[in-house]
Amino acid sequence: MAIDLHVHSNASDGAKSPREVVGAAAGLGLQAISITDHDTVAGQAEALTAGRELGIRVIPGIEISADVRRAEAHILGYHIDFASDKLLTLTRRLIEGRIRRGRRMFDLLRDYGIKLEWNEVVKGASPEGFIGRGHLFRSMIAAGYVPAAKNREVFLKYFAKDGLAYVEHFYITPREAILAVREAGGVPVLAHPGRMNDDGAIYELIGKGIMGLEVFYPSHTPQQQAHYLAMARRFGLIATGGTDYHGHGGDMGAPMGGCSPPEEVLDQLRLAAEEVRRRKNREPSAH
Ligand code: AMP
Ligand code: MN
Ligand code: MN
Ligand code: MN
Repeated sequence: MAIDLHVHSNASDGAKSPREVVGAAAGLGLQAISITDHDTVAGQAEALTAGRELGIRVIPGIEISADVRRAEAHILGYHIDFASDKLLTLTRRLIEGRIRRGRRMFDLLRDYGIKLEWNEVVKGASPEGFIGRGHLFRSMIAAGYVPAAKNREVFLKYFAKDGLAYVEHFYITPREAILAVREAGGVPVLAHPGRMNDDGAIYELIGKGIMGLEVFYPSHTPQQQAHYLAMARRFGLIATGGTDYHGHGGDMGAPMGGCSPPEEVLDQLRLAAEEVRRRKNREPSAH
């Protein structure tokens, strides 16, 4: 039975509500999923409840965006305590940063002649107010600024890291993201290492406390998958995987469950979370 440990809901930039995502996963007969929304845990309670009702395992998760030099490191966290005050304080700051950043990207688009309505942009946002590049891009599509054949080209022109309207995330270092996950009793995992495509940077993150690598990912070539699997084995990291399903169509093309890690990942993550919690209880908190 397939497992998907990387899926988004409309608590961040996915199309479906957490309950709909879990329902779709159950309908596909998946064994377990994790909703790993960007920078928020607002969808977790609903997802867990839906999982219990529908008889599918739901692992609490998050994906935190951190900026490293000219790339981004996305830190996944599994088995996090999503009621943790510290984690909620952090996610609140991240969302506030995202709203300010969204507004700045909106203003930059305006400078380049792309006149959107802020009300339209935020209409697609969650009650918490999560704004990402996807929200702005979908507003551009709705306003007729994106010829269908040029979807990717237009996205990259404005929203790639060196794009015209791109604004950096609120600054959180990968180290802070890793610690935040561990503080919340979760297992930090580096998302889509192939998108980073920089072994030096990955070794640094391993040194900073990453416990897993997302080996199975739709955009990874067979060579990359083998490379990261070997790296995970060499460093004793958990090899996780998922589709990064957003439900908007297009995405990365993989249907939920289409990039499944082996089943033993579930026990490995559970044991790693127990280890994180044991250590946390032994060490006096630094804060
Ligand atoms: P952000 O979290 O605001 O930095 O935006 C990153 C998000 O933009 C990714 O998680 C995707 O959901 C979305 N994204 C990335 N590339 C594309 C693309 N080519 N077309 C549409 N959305 C994209
Ligand atoms: Mn996204
Ligand atoms: Mn990501
Ligand atoms: Mn993702």
